[in-house]
Amino acid sequence: MAVAAESQQEEKSPSKASAVEKRWTLNDFDIGMPLGRGKFGHVYLAREKRSNHIVALKVLFKSQLKQSQVEHQLRREVEIQSHLRHPNILRLYGYFYDQTRVYLILEYAAKGEVYKELQKCKYFSERRTATYISSLAQALIYLHGKHVIHRDIKPENLLIGLQGELKIADFGWSVHTFNRRRTMCGTLDYLPPEMVESVEHDASVDIWSLGILCYEFLFGAPPFEAKEHSDTYRRIVKVDLKFPSKPIVSPGAKELISQMLVKDSSQRLPLHKLLEHPWIVQNADPSGVYRG
Ligand code: ATP
Ligand code: MG
Repeated sequence: MAVAAESQQEEKSPSKASAVEKRWTLNDFDIGMPLGRGKFGHVYLAREKRSNHIVALKVLFKSQLKQSQVEHQLRREVEIQSHLRHPNILRLYGYFYDQTRVYLILEYAAKGEVYKELQKCKYFSERRTATYISSLAQALIYLHGKHVIHRDIKPENLLIGLQGELKIADFGWSVHTFNRRRTMCGTLDYLPPEMVESVEHDASVDIWSLGILCYEFLFGAPPFEAKEHSDTYRRIVKVDLKFPSKPIVSPGAKELISQMLVKDSSQRLPLHKLLEHPWIVQNADPSGVYRG
């Protein structure tokens, strides 16, 4: 896959002379149909001319990025996402820019957004939900192992690949805890246990979100939904978790959700335990692909 190989050069290795580094430009791509639009620009289907590799090209306007003061956030997103390699994490192959725009070369997720699928179906079957949740847990284990916390897991940020596999996209809110700690404290060696532990403590926010997601997949709406923001807030703080009588959902799924939506973050079900939970084992497709 030429695009992937060349993007390695994009991740500047000091040993490589800058003359041999591949610099992408818009001329390297044939632009196809629009795939969607986001807050800061548009996404197009595109083909890298030399390799014929199909990608999604996200075009962001510098003026809008500046206006909303998100350049820093974008830089972090690119920095984090370009180093990740996991079947359930959307690849960022590289980026380039011209005077007015920034272009992100992304893996193409042929089947679009989970959010739209959920709107269409209203709610997912237990098999489909378990398959998605299991894939996501594996992707999060990989991320957390790299000290990355996503912090924004929700249906809008999940895409579906050609085979039906789930892909985490949108790392705009993710953080690299190790980096933060390093810049904050200079070195890790002098950190007391409670601060070292807080890395994992932080990562458990993604377990909570995964619990919310599991609920929304199965019931079609998030658990603490309310008319007023203040009521949602109150329900979250109390962990006011109720399961509707319809659709009918098996007790195992409800048990799993209850084990993730725990107020004390240290008591949330660890992701490797989630993968061993009987409801996941019985319902998730081991290939990670939901075939409908
Ligand atoms: P933002 O991330 O700025 O809040 P957003 O998530 O709505 O906004 P984008 O991430 O820019 O917007 O994407 C816009 C739309 O384009 C998405 O909702 C999705 O439908 C489509 N899209 C984005 N990336 C891809 C991709 N890699 N493969 C297929 N479709 C994509
Ligand atoms: Mg998005």
